[in-house]
Amino acid sequence: MRIVVLAGGIGGARFLRGLKRAVPDADITVIGNTGDDIHLFGLKVCPDLDTVMYTLGGGIDEERGWGRTDESFRLKEELAAYGVGPEWFGLGDRDFATHIVRTQMLAAGYPLSAVTEALCDRWQPGVRMIPMTDDRVETHVAVTLPDGDPAAGPSTGSGAGAGETPPGSAAGSGVRKVIHFQEYWVRLRASVPAEAVVPVGAEQAKPAPGVLEAIAAADVILFPPSNPVVSIGTILAVPGIREAIAEAGVPVVGLSPIVGDAPVRGMADKVLAAVGVESTAWAVAEHYGSGLLDGWLVDTVDATNVERIEEAGIRCRAVPLMMTDVDATARMAREALALAEEVRTV
Ligand code: GDP
Ligand code: CA
Repeated sequence: MRIVVLAGGIGGARFLRGLKRAVPDADITVIGNTGDDIHLFGLKVCPDLDTVMYTLGGGIDEERGWGRTDESFRLKEELAAYGVGPEWFGLGDRDFATHIVRTQMLAAGYPLSAVTEALCDRWQPGVRMIPMTDDRVETHVAVTLPDGDPAAGPSTGSGAGAGETPPGSAAGSGVRKVIHFQEYWVRLRASVPAEAVVPVGAEQAKPAPGVLEAIAAADVILFPPSNPVVSIGTILAVPGIREAIAEAGVPVVGLSPIVGDAPVRGMADKVLAAVGVESTAWAVAEHYGSGLLDGWLVDTVDATNVERIEEAGIRCRAVPLMMTDVDATARMAREALALAEEVRTV
């Protein structure tokens, strides 16, 4: 069975671990989100690709859900002693090695997809992982920063923001700015509303080699409980990917990252609001739409959503969707594959 999974970071990675346990012999291709990528300290950091690679390769810090196990942060401390930041982004000493290798290979002319393959040679994640694109795509978020925010002043000094203040927008309270997604998510913890979420560069990006081929050859396509806007939404924003999925002629089944009208982890509600989508399991299903999704799993606590989703033309089941451990996650993966078989035969 050839399975294609579109994945963000933690939600995608944990789901993939369960999927591998559920179907050990399946041929799994992961199309990874690179909209979270950021240049820090001269290095190219790909947080979502690394979270998947470390999680499946056994190198992840289980408690944090990102970064390396047994990590130390001495390099970052030394940089801070020079006044070099940003301090808000956690980069550990062991993790730094990955970014150095990646940056070196990119500088030598290898595309990100080849670099990712080389990094995965070490980690052996047991899946084929392809970045959504080899081109640069960076998710930016428009926000109004409260007066007094370090980035609201005339010079941000953080070095990582995508900051640009549209002329005349500083009137009233707060300063309207466009910042990098990581600054919004990690530094601000999504504490101010996201007024717009823009995958900068996506429109000009091409799917990485192998992405469209994997989709065309898939027997089933899964959307794990990843962020619908800044993870899966970004992947779908690369021209050609959404169309290829819709036209693949195979079941497309997703699992809701929203349980009980709230994200299980993180602040997905903030970026859903930016695209006008309610933080409910049914609203996310309708956001993807029946043109894309054939099946959708909601958690048992959201069983009342099922009827509404089915009325929208998407086959829906309510099953436990908490990835508490790998066995529970494997059961979710089996449910998703069972729903795929159900919609395949209609
Ligand atoms: P990120 O890139 O690290 O933010 O990770 P993803 O985009 O892959 O996934 C984030 C989403 O996973 C969040 O919106 C969470 O609500 C969702 N999530 C995390 N853990 C669980 C879980 O156990 N069950 C479900 N259904 N969703 C989860
Ligand atoms: Ca992410």
